[in-house]
Amino acid sequence: EVESSSPLLANLNPEQLAAVTLPNEHALILAGAGSGKTRVLTTRIAWLLSTGQVSPGGVMAVTFTNKAAKEMMTRLQAMLPVNVRGMWIGTFHGLCNRFLRAHWRLANLPQSFQILDTQDQLSAVKRVIKQFNVDEERFPAKEMQWFISGCKEDGLRPSMVELRGEDVRKKVEIYQLYEDQCQREGVVDFGELMLRSYEIMRDDDPLHEHYRRRFRHILIDEFQDTNRLQYAWIKMFAGEHNSVFAVGDDDQSIYAFRGARVGNMADFVSEFQVRHQIKLEQNYRSHSNILDSANELIRHNQRRLGKNLRTTQGPGEPVRVYEAPTDLAEAQWIVEELRHLVRGEGPREGFPRNEIAVLYRSNAQSRVIETALFNAGVPYRVYGGLRFFERAEIKHALAYLRLLENPHDDTSFLRVVNFPPRGIGARSIEQLQDAARARGCSLHDAAGATTGRAGANLAAFIGRIVALRERTRDLTLRETIELMLGESGLIEHYKTEREGADRIENLEELVNAAESFVTQEGFGRDAIALPVDELAPGALTQSPVSQGLDPSLPEANQPAPDYVAPDADTGETLSPLAAFLTHAALESGDNQAQAGQDAVQLMTVHSAKGLEFDCVFISGLEEGLFPSERSMADHDGLEEERRLMYVAITRARKRLYLSHSQTRLLHGQTRYNVRTRFFDELPEGALKWLTPKDPGFGRSAFGYGSGYPTTRQYGGGGGGAYSGERFASPPVPQQKAAPSHGLKAGMKVFHTKFGEGTIASLEGQGDDARAQVNFPRHGVKWLALAVAKLTPVD
Ligand code: ATP
Ligand code: MG
Repeated sequence: EVESSSPLLANLNPEQLAAVTLPNEHALILAGAGSGKTRVLTTRIAWLLSTGQVSPGGVMAVTFTNKAAKEMMTRLQAMLPVNVRGMWIGTFHGLCNRFLRAHWRLANLPQSFQILDTQDQLSAVKRVIKQFNVDEERFPAKEMQWFISGCKEDGLRPSMVELRGEDVRKKVEIYQLYEDQCQREGVVDFGELMLRSYEIMRDDDPLHEHYRRRFRHILIDEFQDTNRLQYAWIKMFAGEHNSVFAVGDDDQSIYAFRGARVGNMADFVSEFQVRHQIKLEQNYRSHSNILDSANELIRHNQRRLGKNLRTTQGPGEPVRVYEAPTDLAEAQWIVEELRHLVRGEGPREGFPRNEIAVLYRSNAQSRVIETALFNAGVPYRVYGGLRFFERAEIKHALAYLRLLENPHDDTSFLRVVNFPPRGIGARSIEQLQDAARARGCSLHDAAGATTGRAGANLAAFIGRIVALRERTRDLTLRETIELMLGESGLIEHYKTEREGADRIENLEELVNAAESFVTQEGFGRDAIALPVDELAPGALTQSPVSQGLDPSLPEANQPAPDYVAPDADTGETLSPLAAFLTHAALESGDNQAQAGQDAVQLMTVHSAKGLEFDCVFISGLEEGLFPSERSMADHDGLEEERRLMYVAITRARKRLYLSHSQTRLLHGQTRYNVRTRFFDELPEGALKWLTPKDPGFGRSAFGYGSGYPTTRQYGGGGGGAYSGERFASPPVPQQKAAPSHGLKAGMKVFHTKFGEGTIASLEGQGDDARAQVNFPRHGVKWLALAVAKLTPVD
């Protein structure tokens, strides 16, 4: 037959070949990471086209990201001469957008309708709440947004929601008002894109019929992460004459928190009466040390459909494990290692930079790595989320800081004059702009001329900035930023948002960023690593040093009112604030040029789904971070984290690094961390510990000739946490019996740094033993008992 001789099919294994050439019927390809699911899906499209079974217009393929869609089109074009524009390849939202653009009249939308992202949606909800005098205490905008999105995902319009109780009645009313406003303004939110296209298909028979005939083949990648509405939407496009080809991996379902239903796979099999189910078990991506690690890890999950993966690629290199004393040291180690990778070693050629990925669990972790890369001049690119200084909340914060420096910065003025909302409407702002234009002055200077309520609100805003400028005059950069975060109302504002926690984390990261900036500018890059007692006397009073040092040390937080950083360009001296703002602008803007083709790839594990790289670093592998604090409480949460870790590991082809740090400055606080439990679930034989498996660190243990602190004391004499004696040189693996720490939950203990606290829980044994302690003044901390000394208080 034609098909088996086609060169397209030449390199497929028998199961892949079977999947690619399945008849025009519904099918499910269930297979593990790197087994060629995406390749099979792409090849099937090419095969269907090249054998004339379908024309480009008859194909719809759903990918999980826009990037994946682009990649698929590129591959198709490489396989055969075809106009990919005619094909519907994209994400659910992308395809719905395309659909609504094509049928805007039917959808009752303006041709040029705009899309609201999550943030815009929230502002829209807020406007409704304000305009109709809704009691925000009872119906916070965030909750309303959640409610509205939830309804849409369940396919419910306001009239369809069951009115249970007074509260729901009111919520539905707000939902309706919001809908009216969106309709009036010609905008649609994400949920609306899906729901409206679903409804048009449902309600318009000729259209429905048209599309069911048109799309002969519907192919969906990453099926395990579809939600209810997406599933219903697919069902709407499916019919007697076409087939749905779904590929997925239950072990890679990582979006349950956003409504993904792994159960869609089982539903699909029964509701579509799927007769063809194919498993792919050969992994083509990774060497077996990497793959064994992934397999072994995921075996610890109970809820699995069960499948296995094997590779013929041989063991390859061991998985390298590294323990750093601090997050900063971890980042610097990554940079060092990266350099080796890029340069090559002996007979091994260097890896291209874009074949190296650095992964982390949460966005807030990227900042310290970005800074290290930036300082080392290593080109990098951040995916899935904006670069740190480009994030909206950071830009808002920077705008406030800029206004402190320069009240006439109109861009910053406009950005925050009504953010957080303070009753200065678009019309007032327009009038203000007109006035400023007429008088040829800044918005700030024109504000005095505005009258009425808007004028009063504007005056209040300006008064606030003036007061803040006064109050921060003698403060350090850190204190300035902290005060600004509070006084601007930004923190308060984000507390009320659904995704606000992340933003607050990022704002706290801004404090860290400022601090390391001051440290590094003050001492030059190398100074960060200097132990306290090697600094010249008085050095600490000249410059605040805290990154890399314990911020709770009193001398580390010395205010440095007269600290000035030289500005290399102008020869003038800038205030720390001005210097920092310059740094932020440079790092976000011009540096873009660096982020070209050959750049190291930075991203969260979530956004790495489906991708692959020669070398992968998974950083921050610490309890409370990965698995995340929130997930640790329940079984399902932990299984999802384990799947996430499985996704992370299986991104690597040749080299995998796993790293963790004993301490981490995160969200403005130094955390003492324990390495993740996932290390205990990996096959020991596949791992190579670059640092001794024992906690603790020291000069020789980390292979640094100098520069890394060996004598730094974290908790004064008593803590003895990182006093260096734990690793005499050369490091000897410490054979320690399980410590008889004699601690119990509920016990009152004393810690030299945090003071008195109560043990909430204890975990682990021997060197891994740790205690969760609630300190009234410092909050809840996890402390490794091998490092932190806790004395019972009686
Ligand atoms: P994930 O679950 O991570 O999305 P996947 O199952 O979609 O992975 P692919 O990305 O399609 O896997 O394939 C993994 C790698 O293996 C790709 O580089 C692909 O080109 C390669 N590959 C797949 N099948 C074969 C094959 N038969 N021969 C050679 N290489 C293959
Ligand atoms: Mg894939």
